[in-house]
Amino acid sequence: MADRSTCEGCGKRFWISQLTPADDDDDRDLCPKCWDKNYDKILLKVKKMVKVMRGKYKREHGKFPYGLGRWAFEIGGKNYWFHDNEAILYSEAKKLAIEKAKTLNVLTITVLP
Ligand SMILES: [Zn+2]
Repeated sequence: MADRSTCEGCGKRFWISQLTPADDDDDRDLCPKCWDKNYDKILLKVKKMVKVMRGKYKREHGKFPYGLGRWAFEIGGKNYWFHDNEAILYSEAKKLAIEKAKTLNVLTITVLP
């Protein structure tokens, strides 16, 4: 399943399958280069970068959230589903969840199992 995202650090598109940082509980849209080399700088640069917690999902399913599914996120104490009648890519759902979080001024959200 082709699942790509846009790096919030450098703006480049990258394949999510290329990288998944080892951190179970921090799923940011950073390409491997930005994640490895400029992580601290980028966090300073991108002030409203939303942290996506995926540890709960991983513990439940034994893998990172990825590909097509019906994705739910806890944002500011409420649960939100980001799909219509059909499943959507995790990367798309995450993008919508991050947008929602920004409108609510929430900086940490959680992928629900
Ligand atoms: Zn990057």
